[in-house]
Amino acid sequence: MNKVLQNFLFVILIFLLISSLFALFNPQIFEKSEEVSFSQISQDINQGNIKEIIVSGDDLLILYQDGKQVTSRKESDSSLTQSLINYGVSQEKIRGFQIKIEKEKGSIWEWLMPVLIFLPLLIFIWFFWTISKQAKAGAGQTFSFLKAPAKLFGSGKAPGEKVTFKDVAGLEGAKEEVKEVVDFLKNPKKFWKMGARIPRGVLLIGPPGTGKTLLARAVANESGVPFFSIVGSAFVELFVGVGSSRVRSLFETAKKNQPSILFIDEIDAIGKTRMPGVGGGHEEREQTLNQILAEMDGFERDTGVIVIGATNKPDVLDSALLRPGRFDRRIVLDLPDIKGRKEILKIHCRDKPLSLDVNLDEIAERTPGFSGADLANLVNEAAIFAARKDKKQIYQEEFLESIEKVLLGPERKSHLLSKKEKEICAFHEAGHALVAASIPEAEQVRKISIVSRGMVAGYTLALPKEEKRIKTKSEFLAELSVLLGGFCAEKLKFKEISTGATNDLEKVSLLARNLVTKYGMSKLGPISFGKRESMPFLGWEAETERNYSEKIATAIDKETERFIKEAEKKTIRILKKKRKTLERIAKVLIEKETIEKEEFENLIKKKGKIKKVKR
Ligand code: ADP
Ligand code: MG
Ligand code: ZN
Repeated sequence: MNKVLQNFLFVILIFLLISSLFALFNPQIFEKSEEVSFSQISQDINQGNIKEIIVSGDDLLILYQDGKQVTSRKESDSSLTQSLINYGVSQEKIRGFQIKIEKEKGSIWEWLMPVLIFLPLLIFIWFFWTISKQAKAGAGQTFSFLKAPAKLFGSGKAPGEKVTFKDVAGLEGAKEEVKEVVDFLKNPKKFWKMGARIPRGVLLIGPPGTGKTLLARAVANESGVPFFSIVGSAFVELFVGVGSSRVRSLFETAKKNQPSILFIDEIDAIGKTRMPGVGGGHEEREQTLNQILAEMDGFERDTGVIVIGATNKPDVLDSALLRPGRFDRRIVLDLPDIKGRKEILKIHCRDKPLSLDVNLDEIAERTPGFSGADLANLVNEAAIFAARKDKKQIYQEEFLESIEKVLLGPERKSHLLSKKEKEICAFHEAGHALVAASIPEAEQVRKISIVSRGMVAGYTLALPKEEKRIKTKSEFLAELSVLLGGFCAEKLKFKEISTGATNDLEKVSLLARNLVTKYGMSKLGPISFGKRESMPFLGWEAETERNYSEKIATAIDKETERFIKEAEKKTIRILKKKRKTLERIAKVLIEKETIEKEEFENLIKKKGKIKKVKR
């Protein structure tokens, strides 16, 4: 806006300059001559000395018979002849010289007035012109803000950008369902014959980066019908009331082009649960949401418009949106399993020079919990690593390195630990790893490192042995012990505790508490304590209401404490028993800074003797 103001001042300056120029060059002949009194003029007329008088308003230019020029002024409320008669000049004498009336000249106001009238108008026009130009360059919405900025996908796209079902790995079930919906659009008669109703809306649900947008883009290219796409947040902006009119225009466009698909990405931006007082602009959102609901209800039975919504927060969606007749089909996109991950990796490696030693199976195995977007990022990071090292191909090494980068942030080699810090860190991580290796239910250690990364000083990378959707109590207890491994190892070795375990302790407390209040795994029995509510605008969950007594609260605290105390006892028992192994792991860590899975397994197996490790 600063620039607009600058332009504005600049324009004003130019106008002032122009008007003063006009004033300057306006010929002011009257001012150049000597000025005499009117009575003097009257006398001269009576003597017959004057040849001609030029009148311009009240100004007079008097030309004498001998060629002299003077100026004078007459009374402003009477004419020249009248004034002369008043001064005692006779009628004949007046007829004895010429009177010439000229248009009045010279007042600066005469020039300034039109400028002053038109200037604001010009500025006004110019102002709106600039804004509209800027808006067009930017979001393109100032003047057309009532129309939805929906993009039409399909025919006219660059071939490189075209996403097809082939570019979407895994997600077979989701693909099938989407195809079916597209089939509805293409051959509606087939379904009508059976009395089936075409689904109005399909909701793609899944964690971020699982390919919801990608799948929709593939549908756009594969369906062969017009595909309109818009992001949910585009409805909630700028002016109140814009959202709902945008929805109207969007649905109108889609209906005009039916059969067509209308894709609303990140629909949770509008469809949030209507919670009074939470988050700004909820009223606007509500209007927009209502408009969507109304539009979807307004479809006639045979309207060939299908709305596809995508969200990663289905729990915050208003239940009205999920009612049958709106988004009545829900397609869940899960995080990919090992097979899916391998396929996604394959897709993203297609156009990259891979070395023969690259083993995508191993990478897929090491990346549970990675989303499609994470994997795409991983492959890209590996390519960057390889390029930075001036390699001709991407090797397995680069892939493994980028897994950690994606997980924990970049390595910070510059962050040097002092000798003492390094020792503490080594024992801490060795503690985690050793405890993990000693409890069968714990996750498998893949790597230990005391090279700081992102926010952590050192880390132990442990991953589940196989993929799981549910966790058991004994696994949780194992997790508690492993989390305490670092803390206990420090205590055991140095008889002192450092701040290095802060993060671990936070996790321990939360987990132990959840065991009691959420999972019903404590003595208190299968009860869920406290009312939890997710806070959509912050993306976390919080206990909003305590629906239990003071007595229960004490019991919960006690149970939580018991879980932690027992886990600590177990951890200390393990570490004391395997003290020698702990020392051995720590020693190798101090020397080499990272230990990979195989070496770690060798270290645990070896009993007693400490072998010298070569770098
Ligand atoms: P979201 O579910 O959050 O909308 P996107 O569809 O935007 O996720 O996915 C982000 C990126 O992740 C995609 O552009 C693509 O490169 C990659 N990706 C995600 N899932 C897959 C998949 N199943 N197959 C191939 N690439 C995927
Ligand atoms: Mg998306
Ligand atoms: Zn730790």
